[in-house]
Amino acid sequence: MNRLCQIDGCDKPARAQRTLCQTHRARIRRYGDPHFTQWGTADVMDVELIVQERRPASSLTRLERVLVAQGLTERGESASEIARIVGVSQRTVERWRSRSLEAA
Ligand SMILES: [Zn+2]
Repeated sequence: MNRLCQIDGCDKPARAQRTLCQTHRARIRRYGDPHFTQWGTADVMDVELIVQERRPASSLTRLERVLVAQGLTERGESASEIARIVGVSQRTVERWRSRSLEAA
């Protein structure tokens, strides 16, 4: 019998010998909050600042990274420069670019 994840409203099975599913366990480990969602969280001011100043940024959520990459793309920044600023590989930036229309 699989037990379910202990987080309210989560119907995923818990990992073997654990009380939480993979997703919630990872969120607590990384963010200290089981309800943290990378995609749902973006500080627009931070994103704007990073785009304007082109300063390498750490500790961005996934959504923030994508938004920064979009902003820099709109300003004509190269994929390699965006990769440096956002802290991901150039391949990742190119993948985001090709998906950005669908995501928007
Ligand atoms: Zn869960």
